[in-house]
Amino acid sequence: MIIIFFGPPGAGKGTQASLTAKTLKIPHLSTGDILRDKLLDQDTLSIKLKKLMDSGNLVSDDILNEIIANRLKLPDCQGGFVLDGYPRTMSQKIFLIDFLESHDLSISKIIDLVIDEKIIIYRIKSRSNIENRLDDREEIIKTRMVKYIEETKPLFKYFRSKYPNDYHIIDGDQDIEKIQDDILKIVKNEDFQP
Ligand code: ADP
Repeated sequence: MIIIFFGPPGAGKGTQASLTAKTLKIPHLSTGDILRDKLLDQDTLSIKLKKLMDSGNLVSDDILNEIIANRLKLPDCQGGFVLDGYPRTMSQKIFLIDFLESHDLSISKIIDLVIDEKIIIYRIKSRSNIENRLDDREEIIKTRMVKYIEETKPLFKYFRSKYPNDYHIIDGDQDIEKIQDDILKIVKNEDFQP
């Protein structure tokens, strides 16, 4: 199964993607986590990445596309994977579709978590106290939201029209367990009533 998660920062897509991947026993590919891991290298590239990420801006498409292409080729992805945080731009979308087509793969489900911006700001502020992520400061959240609206939202139209039966909008303002339940019903093709 190939599952893509969409959702604004703070929608809980990392949590839901991870739970879903665990249940399905397939890898959870979070580009945010992969990039944060890279920061530990403390080389020239990581200094550049840190600057972009701490300011709420996106990392370049070339870097992301290379990360994803290398990751998807590994043996553990051959039985499917969950994408969290990718594709995030038009160029990433084109790259992914191309990659999947050339490897004879197709997307099984797209989960789009929606949630009100006010709730997001509240959530991220509480998370930043626990996780101490520099990009969780309030002024930075705004930049991340703008990036989401400008760069990522325009991709939805394509996915909705290409996968009308597999594109699912989920209310992100519910308990973690309820959201996961909704997602698993969709993934397992059970009767789902929002
Ligand atoms: P969130 O989705 O909550 O904003 P992530 O952990 O997914 O947080 O991403 C953190 C940061 O990593 C982003 O703000 C961005 O700088 C970078 N990043 C993650 N995925 C991508 C991507 N696909 N393209 C460009 N930058 C990315």
